[in-house]
Amino acid sequence: MIEARELSKRFGALSAIDGVSLRAADGRITGLLGPNGAGKSTTLRILYTVLTPDGGEAWIDGVSVLAEPLEARRRMGVLAHGAGVYPNLTARENIEYFGALHGLERDVRRARAAELITRLEMTAFADRPAKGFSQGERVKTALARALVHQPRNVLLDEPTNGLDVMAVRTLRRLLGQLRDAGHCILFSSHVMQEVAALCDEVIIIAGGRVVAQGEPEALKARAATASLEEAFVRLIDSSDRGSAP
Ligand code: ADP
Ligand code: MG
Repeated sequence: MIEARELSKRFGALSAIDGVSLRAADGRITGLLGPNGAGKSTTLRILYTVLTPDGGEAWIDGVSVLAEPLEARRRMGVLAHGAGVYPNLTARENIEYFGALHGLERDVRRARAAELITRLEMTAFADRPAKGFSQGERVKTALARALVHQPRNVLLDEPTNGLDVMAVRTLRRLLGQLRDAGHCILFSSHVMQEVAALCDEVIIIAGGRVVAQGEPEALKARAATASLEEAFVRLIDSSDRGSAP
């Protein structure tokens, strides 16, 4: 379970986020949806403890990211935007290395890496050095690495960027499996169809503020339009004008 209350962050004169509150439940896929510059990455980076907010608080399974960042991190798997994999290590070595960083025994990290390689359909490239990988291969490697310690909460920043159709399908299936196993999934996207196809719950963020949160169907109804795409545009438009949608 991921919760944030009234998070704010400024970069100099720029207010990146201003009063972001959200909740992502276990056994659900929650999408953080918004246009470029909306504050998605800033929010996620605060949640996964690489950025300190100017105000507000956040908890991972009730553990404060500000007071106990290490304990909070243990409960998270993170696929950061543009996450780098070690180019001289193979995919399998990348995964096992992260397992070692998390303190897993050798046999355990080997078994976990093998299992993730199968589940993510990485067998064909698992034992090649990562330096020649396609974007899809890199993302799969980074995702497998993020899951090696079997975190209950999984945070992904625009995970489908640069992926081909097959890789997106694999990713969706995996996120669905994690959800069904009771994990809490929070991922960001600027692509409406992505979120509509995958999410149980959508949080719409624009201009550093949450403008709506709800199930996709409820958001559609709220914006009184047939498609989530239109609902998204309307909710953002009305927040720009400063009126409640
Ligand atoms: P998103 O991920 O939704 O595209 P971000 O959270 O990355 O949005 O950015 C929100 C706003 O904060 C943008 O205007 C961005 O330019 C600004 N911003 C983000 N990170 C920094 C930073 N490290 N320094 C200065 N400005 C930043
Ligand atoms: Mg971003």
